[in-house]
Amino acid sequence: MTLPEGVERQEFDGDTGLATRGEPVYGEPVRDGWRRWDPSRSKLGSMLDLGMDTGLSGGETVLYLGAAAGTTVSHVADFAGPTYAVEFAPRPMRDLVLAAEDRENLFPLLKDARDPDSYSHIVEPVDILLQDVATRGQAAVAVANRRFLADDGLLLMAIKARSEDVTGDPEAVFENVLDELRESYEILETTRLEPYHDDHLGVIARPA
Ligand code: SAM
Repeated sequence: MTLPEGVERQEFDGDTGLATRGEPVYGEPVRDGWRRWDPSRSKLGSMLDLGMDTGLSGGETVLYLGAAAGTTVSHVADFAGPTYAVEFAPRPMRDLVLAAEDRENLFPLLKDARDPDSYSHIVEPVDILLQDVATRGQAAVAVANRRFLADDGLLLMAIKARSEDVTGDPEAVFENVLDELRESYEILETTRLEPYHDDHLGVIARPA
């Protein structure tokens, strides 16, 4: 597996884990400027840790949908270029704004990812569309935001089965979401994110 430049495996108290360089955000262990990136708290962290071929090399322009309080997107901004972080809930947004104070390339946007028109005047074309919205209609969000993704860019997405159907068989739910995604994307790789995240599927896709 190739990690992006700026992401390394570092030792923390005798244990080795992914890490980026930057100011701490959520009480994560820090050593010599490296902050531990816990895969059990981050879908993208788990995708990297599980060896998915994310195509990330470092320095990319990123649109991140479902940024919450900034746990994952703060790590992304540590190694990426301009990073637009969309979150529609005001409460986590307050913490996200704090995380952005130490990162001049991180731009929090209090917006609804189902309404890309509302931020199309701010967001430039991006190399990477990252999505972790964990709500019903996850494929529709990725399809609606395809417009921001460069033709040679990549979609990195976590699908949460229970957000689509609480009782349904996760494999059947994933197939439905992937079918809908195929309207706009070619699926390159999928991996279940256990043991880090139950009933989640990591997806890597490119614009069709
Ligand atoms: N990606 C985050 C991380 O790893 O740090 C965790 C994201 S959490 C699983 C999902 C987030 O998506 C929530 O904060 C939720 O408010 C946000 N969300 C859900 N639907 C959204 C939408 N339509 N627009 C913007 N944010 C949305």
